[in-house]
Amino acid sequence: MATTLIIGAGGVGRVVAHKCVMNKDVFGRIVLASRSLGRCKTIQEELSGAIEITTVDADKTQEVIKLIKEVGADIVINVALPYQDLAIMDACIATNTPYLDTANYEHPDEAKFEYKLQWERDAKFKEAGIMGLLGSGFDPGATNVFCAYAQKHYFDEIHTIDILDCNAGDHGYAFATNFNPEINLREVSANGRYWENGKWIETKPLEIMQVWDYPEVGPKDSYLLYHEEMESLVQNIKGLKRIRFFMTFGQSYIKHMEVLQNVGMLGIEPVEHQGMKIIPIEFLKTLLPDPASLGARTKGKTNIGILAEGIKDGKKRKIYIYQVKDHEECYAETKSQGVSYTTGVPAMIGAKLMLKGIWSGKGVFNMEQMDPDPFMEEMNTQGLPWKIMEM
Ligand code: NDP
Repeated sequence: MATTLIIGAGGVGRVVAHKCVMNKDVFGRIVLASRSLGRCKTIQEELSGAIEITTVDADKTQEVIKLIKEVGADIVINVALPYQDLAIMDACIATNTPYLDTANYEHPDEAKFEYKLQWERDAKFKEAGIMGLLGSGFDPGATNVFCAYAQKHYFDEIHTIDILDCNAGDHGYAFATNFNPEINLREVSANGRYWENGKWIETKPLEIMQVWDYPEVGPKDSYLLYHEEMESLVQNIKGLKRIRFFMTFGQSYIKHMEVLQNVGMLGIEPVEHQGMKIIPIEFLKTLLPDPASLGARTKGKTNIGILAEGIKDGKKRKIYIYQVKDHEECYAETKSQGVSYTTGVPAMIGAKLMLKGIWSGKGVFNMEQMDPDPFMEEMNTQGLPWKIMEM
């Protein structure tokens, strides 16, 4: 029987734990570890004791090594924060344990999104004879798999890809983030960037807006952002000439973001406050609703997909591969809102394919490097059915 170690008991960790329990024949013994025990306990209670729980400081490689050895993990599913990626990867190398995450490494003091430091560990993963799967959430994650699926079945060459991330959910707050506020706000307030004809083109934060009409949701203002999956997709998709990423934001979100930015509340440098050093964005996180608490009040749908254009059999082709999920349905199943759900389910699917040996390899991989078919099949049966629209 396998032993699965999940690190991180936030919104995404909760969904991963629920979904692993639903697939217990593959995941076997499930241990959930996080910085503090409180949220682990809640999840354990929701699952009627079907998982074990413990604490770990995943910033410390030695602590993670000790935990992996103690539980005898066959895989580590890292759904803590991007800051912990390298420490957990190093612990996996030291213990020859397969690794999976959902977001690329970020240094706490620098809002920089790149795979460099994780890709650099490829040789060590190879030496250890283990697989590391990077970015097995929705975007990155399912969107990379959609691109690989389009490449395998629909195109001889893909020329342009637009990744479209629409969250039309409403939680009733004037301002809240759907996943970790610090990570979310760092991503959105950073400069935008897209890739065209072999070059990265930088834009100011939220400078480019386009209205996309999302099936089952309707037209929404969508803003061009830099998003990490583009870094690997430009390397792995044949003939690509342009790739962009758009995310929807409502006017209230944008207004609050602008004000917070202007007054310095999104700062990641410590400031002196009444003799104490505080980091503005961390303080803001304390004030904002916990994303894990949004589930019960969020209504509406998500629609995330990829719009791909290119050539098949000498003719032009354009398709949209997408997935629509209802927030309330997610909550009924896992006590989480749609953003955590659509991230946690692909994390479970990636880990399931690794444990079953359907996805295998030695080294560090991005999702589009794997055969997309088994992942797409699992999405259909694990709560994320997808559709394809020829345009
Ligand atoms: P949360 O903030 O809700 O949860 C993070 C969890 O990690 C918390 O339980 C926290 O513990 C734990 N944690 C933080 N630091 C440590 C540490 N040093 N050691 C051990 N545990 C730690 O985040 P989310 O669940 O919303 O997001 C989880 C991950 O998923 C993030 O990396 C995020 O970027 C990624 N993500 C990916 C998406 C995708 O589509 N690819 C979309 C959305 C998110 P504690 O409870 O004690 O604070």
